[in-house]
Amino acid sequence: MFKAILLEQGEGGATLATLKDIDEAALPEGEVQVAVRWSSLNYKDALAITGKSPIVRKWPMIPGIDFAGTVEQSSDPRWKAGDEVVLTGFGVGEGHWGGLAQKARVKGDWLVGLPAGLDAKRAMAVGTAGFTAMLCVMALEKHGLQPGDGEVLVTGASGGVGSVAVALLARLGYRVVASTGRLEETDYLKSLGAESVIDRATLSAPGRPLAKERWAGVVDSVGSHTLVNACAATRENGAVAACGLAQGMDFPATVAPFILRGVTLYGVNSVTVARGPREEAWRRLVQDMPMALLDGMTEVVALKDVIGVAPRFLEGRVRGRLVVDTA
Ligand code: NDP
Repeated sequence: MFKAILLEQGEGGATLATLKDIDEAALPEGEVQVAVRWSSLNYKDALAITGKSPIVRKWPMIPGIDFAGTVEQSSDPRWKAGDEVVLTGFGVGEGHWGGLAQKARVKGDWLVGLPAGLDAKRAMAVGTAGFTAMLCVMALEKHGLQPGDGEVLVTGASGGVGSVAVALLARLGYRVVASTGRLEETDYLKSLGAESVIDRATLSAPGRPLAKERWAGVVDSVGSHTLVNACAATRENGAVAACGLAQGMDFPATVAPFILRGVTLYGVNSVTVARGPREEAWRRLVQDMPMALLDGMTEVVALKDVIGVAPRFLEGRVRGRLVVDTA
């Protein structure tokens, strides 16, 4: 038996979340069984656990879109008992039992080896949110963005994706402007390396199709009007990496920034990243994420407390990253 958060569908489709003891025999099919030591909480997990959005595609479901742990059994020749592994994405915690549990059984393809230089807890302190922040930075770099180019905007800056993005970009030498609805977190954001902090209210309401050119690049985890306004103030031939929808899934934009300023909008999807770029992103995280800052932005939550903590995401009250201790 192992402990897990289990989501079941109740009356009228309501999501019922409970901490349960589950028989190992009930684990889904998969080549690799993992003793999960750490997981993490991401915005998507909060949506699944609270039932706020239709994240769960099969019932009952163990949520948890990422985990780190040790292989117990494997029929995949790439993995053997004792290997330390990390998983993010691939619909785990959505359509396949996930990481908010002491055990998981998954496809070997979905795993990467624990990157040299990270322990399992820090890998989950990074987690899907930090991994996605790295993918956003890599998208901007691929575009050609360089530290001398000017200010880079990070929206949703106090959240998980935002905090890691601020720390990464600052470490890489960029001038980071952090946008937040929590100006009381200004000292925190500056400690991560933000050069300045702006009130997200300046970005979150409908604006003009083109605004004064300011951003050389943008990492946006917020979507909606914020993303539209970020594009409208991006400098000629600049780039915006969009990964989130904390404000909304809508994108009420005009084409003006794209056709009049040559702005490029990159969509970043962390769920199905091919092995090459996935391993590269983890390697880059080890290289470029200041570990002291990662530790400082991480709060540990016990598996039994996950259900109570999840609503904090939807209230915009999570600062940095939440790692889940499954022990
Ligand atoms: P968090 O809740 O930790 O961060 C989101 C932040 O967005 C909040 O902390 C807050 O920052 C800001 N925010 C919240 N509500 C609003 C609002 N109404 N208007 C404007 N800003 C708001 O979540 P994560 O960092 O884990 O995830 C961020 C987003 O990225 C989510 O939408 C998530 O689904 C998405 N995501 C996408 C991935 C992908 O593969 N594309 C992978 C991982 C995450 P502040 O208080 O500083 O303003």
